[in-house]
This record gives sequence, structure tokens and C-alpha cells, in this order.
Amino acid sequence: MATLTLRRKLAVLSDAAKYDASCASSGSEKRSSAGTKGIGSTEGSGICHSYAPDGRCISLLKILLTNFCVYDCVYCVNRSSSNVERARFSVDEVVRLTLDFYKRNYIEGLFLSSGIIRSPDYTMEQLVRVARSLRQDHLFAGYLHLKVIPNAAPELLAEAGRWADRLSTNIEMPTDAGLETLAPEKKPSEIRTAMARLRGKLDEATPDKAARAKPEKFAPAGQSTQMIVGADSADDHAILNRAAGLYTGYKLRRVYYSAFSPIPDASSRLPLRPPPLMREHRLYQADWLIRFYGFDVPEIMAGGQDGLLDLAVDPKLAWALKNRARFPLDVNRADREMLLRVPGLGTKSIDRIVATRRHHRLRLADVARISGSIDKVRPFIEAADWTPGGLTDDARLRARLAPPPEQMSLF
Ligand code: SF4
Repeated sequence: MATLTLRRKLAVLSDAAKYDASCASSGSEKRSSAGTKGIGSTEGSGICHSYAPDGRCISLLKILLTNFCVYDCVYCVNRSSSNVERARFSVDEVVRLTLDFYKRNYIEGLFLSSGIIRSPDYTMEQLVRVARSLRQDHLFAGYLHLKVIPNAAPELLAEAGRWADRLSTNIEMPTDAGLETLAPEKKPSEIRTAMARLRGKLDEATPDKAARAKPEKFAPAGQSTQMIVGADSADDHAILNRAAGLYTGYKLRRVYYSAFSPIPDASSRLPLRPPPLMREHRLYQADWLIRFYGFDVPEIMAGGQDGLLDLAVDPKLAWALKNRARFPLDVNRADREMLLRVPGLGTKSIDRIVATRRHHRLRLADVARISGSIDKVRPFIEAADWTPGGLTDDARLRARLAPPPEQMSLF
């Protein structure tokens, strides 16, 4: 096999990592590096954005250690039967790249995943070696996100959590049946066991006020997972049900939804077209409602149809349009929990509404100022100087609030 340059490996292994939906915005970012030479100086290969535990948006070098893989997951471009160009970094190469990019201020951290080579233990050990070297040998203080290889030894997971800020184990498919069909070498029980181990370690690392000794640090940014949307027949109801179960069962910080990307030579068992990206977006919105707005899955799905979310309007608006009898709500009196159900009002706006109304009665202009936009809110609230009259029940309301369809860009 021809020896690849480090630059070529970076191109291959950052491209191969783009299907890992760990980022708020996947894909690379162009960087200007006038006057400098070297790897990544023009393309910014593999640099993506993610959110740190404190909510800051940070740049990460997102790469695979290797895209060789002994597994043959049908949905994955890196599967053993795929005809893609293969590459593999050494541990030292990943360490060096990370440090170089970090010193040049291109990145604030590393997201590292890998195809499975030799065995889960061997692969996980390689990932851990990168993290250990960065932290111990180079005192790297940047953000580290490591993928967990299911079925790797518990000691390796424990050490991964010692060095990494975040760990993630991909659940992959919304249902066990989907995983068994499309990723025959992966076992749902092994993925759940890995997540449960991480949860156990995260629980142990939670400080106990009564205890004197500080617990050992373990992945302070918690664990997350990824689900592929649209490769199997699971509907949005099944996807959100699984996500809700994962949040409670494994104390997940985040479920990432990744719209399935058809592979040109993929088996005919898979759909030939990707699901609309809007489906992925609506799932993220619904997930947000579950985590921060007190909605449960059946309520959200009641806003959609036949197990799918409404693609034309966001899930909170879809729910409100089907539950108009609950509106309008008086912004000067309604409970915070009910205000969370008003389309167009976010948690911060609601906190400001609740704080402000202690001092004076809110008028529509106050709500508009606080929320930043009033069009979506107006039909669902009453204020000191406003009542929507027949607007809430107007048959044309949905059409008026649905954003006009956009022409997709070709470039
Ligand atoms: S284990 Fe499956 S999903 Fe992961 S890299 Fe290998 S083929 Fe792809």
C-alpha cells in the first residue's frame, strides 16, 4: 500500500469523521493562514464546531484515528466491504496534529473516533493512548471528546473518562431490530452495557456534599450518543421514545440525530434518498422540548401525524395549533410551566416575563421587546392591552405562521 502523507491522511480521516454528528455544524471551515506553511493551513480540514460544557462554541479537530474497520455496518462508508481510500494515523501523529493546530489557534480541542481495528480493546486502547499522551506528556488542557468502542474493557473506559471531557457511545439505530439488521456485528446489549458503565462512573464522580474526599474526575462534560435517522423505517415517535429513554436511563447530556447519508454503492436494503434535513432539525427541536420545556413524547407526537413530526412548522407550534383550546394564556398570570408551551417564547424570555410582571403588568409591546419577535406569540397570549379575539381559532393561522418553503441551494 502506498504511504500516505500526513496531509492526505488528514484529508481522508477528517472526511471520514464527518458522519459523526458530534458537532453543532459539521464539516470543515476555511482558515486563512497567510504567511504560514504546513498541514491544514489552507483547508482547515476536520475543523468543526461544538459546544463546551459552559455553553461556549468551540472549534474542534474532528478526525478518525483510522477508517479501516473490521465491521460491516451497511449504513457506514467505512464498513469493511466499502471501496473507500483507507488511512490510519499513528498515536503520535494525532498528538502532533492536535498540538500543532492548538498552538496555531485553529482549534480548542479534539474529537477522536475510529473504525474498529483488530478488536474493540485494541482500538479503544489506541484512543486512550492519544488522550493520555496529550494530557500527561504535553499537559494539553484543551477539550477532548473520545468515542467509546462498545465491548472494550471497563478499565479502558475508566481511563478514557480520566482524560476526556466527554465520552460518547453511538446507539446508532432507533430500534434494536434496526441495529441487528444493518449492523450485524454490533449488539444492542453491548452498547447499552458501555453506556451503563459510563453512567456508573459518572455517578461515582458526582460530588457528595456529605463526603470529605473529592471523587475522582470522570468525563466532566458527561456522555452523549448518536442516532442515525432515515436508514431504517423507524418513525419520529420511535426515535424520540428511544431518546427519552436514553436521557433518563443513562444520564446522557445529548442525543445527536444524524440524517442518513446514502452511500453510492450501498446495499439496496437502504433507502436511496436521504431523509429531508428538516426532519433532523425537527427532531432536535422536539428533543429540546423534552429536555427543557416539560413536554413528553406523546404530546409532541400529537402535533404531528402518523408517527412523524410536522416538517412545515416547529413541534411547539404544531402542538399549540392542535391544542388551541388551551390558549390564549394571560402573560401576567399564567404559570411558568404553561408559558413554556407558548410558541415563540423561549426559557430566557419566560424568566424575564415572570420577573418583570412582579413590578408591572405587561403589555404586548413589553412581550415583543422581551421575546424579540411577536408574530408567533401574539395569537396565543393575552396581555394588559391585548387579546387575540378570533385569531387563536382562525382556520388560516397555520398557513400564516408556517414559514414559506425555501428553494434549496444547489451550491
Ligand atoms: S463499526 Fe460500523 S459504523 Fe463504526 S466505522 Fe466500523 S463500519 Fe462504520
